[in-house]
Amino acid sequence: MNILIVGSGGRESAFAYKIAQSPKLTNLFIAPGNAGTEQYGKNVDLKVTDFDGIASFALANNIEIILIGPEEPLVKGIHDYFLGREDVKHIAVIGPQQLGAQLEGSKDFSKEFMFRHNIPTAAYKSFNQDNLEEGLAYLETQNLPIVLKADGLAAGKGVLICETLEDAKAELKAMIADAKFGAASSVVVIEEFLKGIELSVFVLTDGESYKVLPSAKDYKRIGEGDTGLNTGGMGSISPVPFATEEFLSKVENRIIKPTIEGLKQDNIPYKGFIFIGLMNVGGDPYVIEYNVRMGDPETESVLPRIESDLVDLLEGVAKGDLATRSYTVSPKTAVTVMLVSGGYPGDYESGKVITNMENVKESIVFHAGTKSVDGQVVTAGGRVIAVTTLQDDLFTALQQATADAGRIFYPGKYFRTDIGFDLI
Ligand code: AMP
Repeated sequence: MNILIVGSGGRESAFAYKIAQSPKLTNLFIAPGNAGTEQYGKNVDLKVTDFDGIASFALANNIEIILIGPEEPLVKGIHDYFLGREDVKHIAVIGPQQLGAQLEGSKDFSKEFMFRHNIPTAAYKSFNQDNLEEGLAYLETQNLPIVLKADGLAAGKGVLICETLEDAKAELKAMIADAKFGAASSVVVIEEFLKGIELSVFVLTDGESYKVLPSAKDYKRIGEGDTGLNTGGMGSISPVPFATEEFLSKVENRIIKPTIEGLKQDNIPYKGFIFIGLMNVGGDPYVIEYNVRMGDPETESVLPRIESDLVDLLEGVAKGDLATRSYTVSPKTAVTVMLVSGGYPGDYESGKVITNMENVKESIVFHAGTKSVDGQVVTAGGRVIAVTTLQDDLFTALQQATADAGRIFYPGKYFRTDIGFDLI
């Protein structure tokens, strides 16, 4: 089988690593990929939103499955594009159509979906330019802190947690009246603040049945002790120690099953991954958000724990017989530490030569923001490399991943040494 992965980050490196192990694979392509994906397949110089280019390439190379890594092409309708063209509609796209992608593309849509299907989530109300005054009055009736969310995609920055009423009012006005996040904040969801500990659960579905993938926890902030600015993610662990069997069965019964059933009831076709961001509030799970693709850096911890052939599972999604495919997960613990460029998530320099990657022996080195220049691998983004290790217990895994992160070198390298230490 010929497979094309769309994307270029650590997540796509992890997909490429896992897919390259499959006996069912003939040729693997990654568009556009990075310096590391070249060890698993062939990079193709195409933008993730170049639907014409991706379709032409897929036709010319007899691609049977296209796996979409990031949300942007999904929200922009890459799956619908393929279904709408006679010559490429036989190619299976893993990732929802535009309607299903609204679960991530519109907070208002996803909140309505959850309320319609009795899926536990924070109480909310949505406001826009027409009822901004009502929104300001609504804020006065709410407890603090309060959460304001831009309805649309805002590059991970559209969620504000306000501690005071004045701040909340000012932010609501800035988002709606002054387009603080552009068109993404023309509608704002005001949401009750949930106090608890976060984790993520991942599901792969063919629209009928599903497999629950390993749970994971990511570490979003730049500084040790989870302090400082938010980033795309500085590391992850899987499994999550506090996600006990009892908790996960609540997640499956209260959230995963109603989500899959809800999609069917609403006639929303869905073939792909669902990433459910959860808050554990006193032992009960609440949905914070849906994403319609895998997370980064969670994928780097989740996929190495899946023992089954991922291509077989993707084929099950494509053919609609996922229920018949075998699926097993390793009990081992995965820890991922992200190496970033100095200055990230603020300004940083790229083009730094990366060396000593061959010194890493006990971990997998997943490239993220890297590229090949004149035979050397150089930095090409904020998040540069994800180092993942799989060990029998969390403590050993943390030590190993941290030690291996230290073995790689480039000027300005930074990584957190405390990923997962709060859970030991
Ligand atoms: P989101 O983009 O919806 O995942 O929100 C970003 C982050 O804001 C989440 O990962 C949480 O840490 C936080 N957050 C979002 N919604 C809530 C909520 N209702 N209560 C508490 N924290 C929240």
